[in-house]
Amino acid sequence: MADSQKYVYSFGGGKADGKADMKTLLGGKGANLAEMSVIGIPVPPGFTITTEVCAQYYENGKKLPDAVKPQVQEAIAKVEAMVGSKLGDPSDPLLVSVRSGAALSMPGMMNTILNLGLSDVAVEGLAKKTGNPRFAYDGYRRLIDMFGSVVMGVDHEHFEHELDSLKKQRNVALDTDLSGDDLKILVEKYKAVYKKYTSTDFPQDPIEQLWAAIMAVFNSWEGKKAVEYRRIERITGLKGTAVNVQAMVFGNMGGDSGTGVAFTRDPNTGENVFYGDYLINAQGEDVVAGIRTPEPISRLNDEMPKVYEQLLKIRENLENHYKEMQDIEFTVQEGKLYMLQTRTGKRTGTAAVRIAVEMVGEKLIDEDTAIKRVSPDSLNHLLLPQLDPKSKLKAVAQGIAASPGAATGKVVLSAEAAVQFAVDHPNEPILLVRKETSPEDVAGMNLAKGILTATGGKASHAAVVARGWGKPCVVGCGALHIDEKAGTVTVAGQVVKAGDFITINGTNGDVMIGQAATVDPEVSGDFATLMAWADKKRKLKVRTNADTPKDAKKARDFGAEGIGLCRTEHMFFEGQRIVDMRKMILADDEAGRKSALAALEPYQREDFIGLFEAMAGLPVTIRLLDPPLHEFLPHDEAGQAEVAKQLNVPIEKVRRRVEQLHESNPMLGLRGCRLAILYPEIGDMQVRAIIEAAIAVKKKGIDVLPEIMIPLVGTIEELAFLKKRAVAIATEIIAVENVKVDYLIGTMIEVPRAALTADQIAEEAEFFSFGTNDLTQMTFGFSRDDITSFVPTYIDQKILKVDPFQSLDTVGVGQLVIMGVDKGRATRKAKGEHLKVGICGEHGGDPDSVAFCHKVGLDYVSCSPFRVPIARLAAAQASLADGEAISRDR
Ligand code: ADP
Ligand code: MG
Ligand code: MG
Repeated sequence: MADSQKYVYSFGGGKADGKADMKTLLGGKGANLAEMSVIGIPVPPGFTITTEVCAQYYENGKKLPDAVKPQVQEAIAKVEAMVGSKLGDPSDPLLVSVRSGAALSMPGMMNTILNLGLSDVAVEGLAKKTGNPRFAYDGYRRLIDMFGSVVMGVDHEHFEHELDSLKKQRNVALDTDLSGDDLKILVEKYKAVYKKYTSTDFPQDPIEQLWAAIMAVFNSWEGKKAVEYRRIERITGLKGTAVNVQAMVFGNMGGDSGTGVAFTRDPNTGENVFYGDYLINAQGEDVVAGIRTPEPISRLNDEMPKVYEQLLKIRENLENHYKEMQDIEFTVQEGKLYMLQTRTGKRTGTAAVRIAVEMVGEKLIDEDTAIKRVSPDSLNHLLLPQLDPKSKLKAVAQGIAASPGAATGKVVLSAEAAVQFAVDHPNEPILLVRKETSPEDVAGMNLAKGILTATGGKASHAAVVARGWGKPCVVGCGALHIDEKAGTVTVAGQVVKAGDFITINGTNGDVMIGQAATVDPEVSGDFATLMAWADKKRKLKVRTNADTPKDAKKARDFGAEGIGLCRTEHMFFEGQRIVDMRKMILADDEAGRKSALAALEPYQREDFIGLFEAMAGLPVTIRLLDPPLHEFLPHDEAGQAEVAKQLNVPIEKVRRRVEQLHESNPMLGLRGCRLAILYPEIGDMQVRAIIEAAIAVKKKGIDVLPEIMIPLVGTIEELAFLKKRAVAIATEIIAVENVKVDYLIGTMIEVPRAALTADQIAEEAEFFSFGTNDLTQMTFGFSRDDITSFVPTYIDQKILKVDPFQSLDTVGVGQLVIMGVDKGRATRKAKGEHLKVGICGEHGGDPDSVAFCHKVGLDYVSCSPFRVPIARLAAAQASLADGEAISRDR
């Protein structure tokens, strides 16, 4: 079997063994090189060694399958035939590049090696054949540098040092100013560096070079950087990397050659314009490495109008073919254009939305595809705080706007420093400021609110990574002088120390010294269009968790269809309220508690009126008091003294009450419905306030749908006890006021026992809302407040895939959810009713959890206001994924 397996896929000359949908096997780069070859785009010929080979290499203890070598030899022969020159031919050598490429593009994989095949004799042959010794030696010194650093692990700086000192000697600024003779000298110096650090001579046999490079690609798959990236991005299940070997084309042959990178649309804004950079007389990574400042792609129209025209055609061709925005690499060799890569372009959330909506307008894709194209989490970009237009901070410098949104944070000058800073000051915002970033910086970059670099363009590492993550980023801000040793950044004559604030605006490239206010965005334009399409498809309703009218309004603007959770305890913390609350807690008897509660009731009523008005006509779920009472009292001496003074009681009394309320495990103690059972007057007051508020609002002609939610129920008896009281109170008020209010009384399902006995609980409950925070806590036995001590290690050790408090554990906790839904619905169904079921844990805004909620038939999810659009889109995608008919009534 192994022997007959195809391990190597050729492409070029208008043909290919592979195609675009073979990314798993050929990697993204290889699959698309094949595809481009077939659709008539000029691609230098080459071949791809499959990801399967990489997988087998690791399975067999770092040994390649036997059939790989002969298949590679055969593929080389094909390339030689197509190009018309041979690997190692002393008078006309074939040169190739060796490129890594997994199914998903990822930083940290082996860097590409160009010009492979050059040797001391071949370089002479190439110089003679092209009549361009400068070009030949430039290629050779690059090969020694790349091969030495990438394959053999010699520090690139050692080569760079030789280049810099030669430039200094010759008194020139750019590497293109060096002559052929200079480069010939440089080659000797590079060879000496190579020998010094590897104790071997630079290999002269091209086949030896080739295999060393191929093996280095496979080895980089398990390299530290790649593993780190896959961990952060939660990438699992890939086979490995493919290796692409491809005939070289040369952008460094003079003024009529060059190389560039471009996006078929603006990846930052999504505008339908050709977007990119190029450099004349340059090779490979020169454009993104910041060696010289690249030119904007539109200038190519002046410098090489024919090539530019051809490039525009290819741009159109690719978009029509892939029906997606592409990120491309090209090289021009003596006026002739070659494409070296195309892939789906990474983009900001803002751009994703605009591109998806505009492509529907252009009839490239349909609405469903547009909905599926935008990752729900990427909407964060559009929901990112923008710089407050009233902000007085003046820009002191301008860089390239690489990823939108405003970020303000304390300056940190290295990725390691960012990691340390986050440990020392866990709640303070970090702004990472660097000359440039590289793959080993990703952990630190991940912690920063925003990233600012002094060099680099739109395709630099910092820009690409920040866009992928939705972090504001400004790159190429040449006015920055960063002194990492001194811990300072100097800009516009001002010195900013590490730890001081800098603000960046990734939407326009502004850099400001100081801390700026930011404002919330709105859902409008293309964003609103996409949301409207999503709303047509989704079955889940989306509500919000909101405790104040302000949050409720914000959420409504974002499309919330009600409140799924109002946490009433948040209403007891301010001003006079906390005083009355403490009075209630310190009261000696029921009468004392009642009088304190009577003082609180008007506040509660006003709060609920505000919420009902903000949510006019939409359901509002209000949870009765949930936390243990000790949370309302200070635990320190000074705080207790103050409370004693405020309430005019001896401090002894306060201290004693705090001691009485102390529990060794408050999460499992006197809280939730247990509180209302022990002190029924608390729940009574809240129910009264809810019903009175509803009547007051109804009297104004506004529709109200209150849902009273009883927390932490584990037995039907608990619920029955409290429901009976609530109904009695509500009935009485409604009778007295003679205003009809439809209200529901339901419960949270957050204690495992409630899920297990959901059939019983539904006898009383008129709705269920899964409190998946507590349910996760109690199912795993993980205290949510203590997980930081072990969950990160669990994730590193792959004991957990993700933090179960962020993404619902569908395997375990999910079973309780399914059981709760099924048992609860069955009971109500027997009564001819539909039990409304939602989720109000943090998970309601997590796309994967939303998909689960859809699958198990919940009626709604509820999440924080800023996640409402994300949940709407996730719900639509879940619905499209199962191809169900469109109907929203469940
Ligand atoms: P990455 O995955 O980092 O983009 P690539 O393999 O795409 O790495 O290549 C690095 C650079 O080398 C790119 O600019 C690419 O266009 C260039 N390059 C790769 N192969 C060739 C080739 N055969 N001829 C000319 N340039 C090449
Ligand atoms: Mg590339
Ligand atoms: Mg709870």
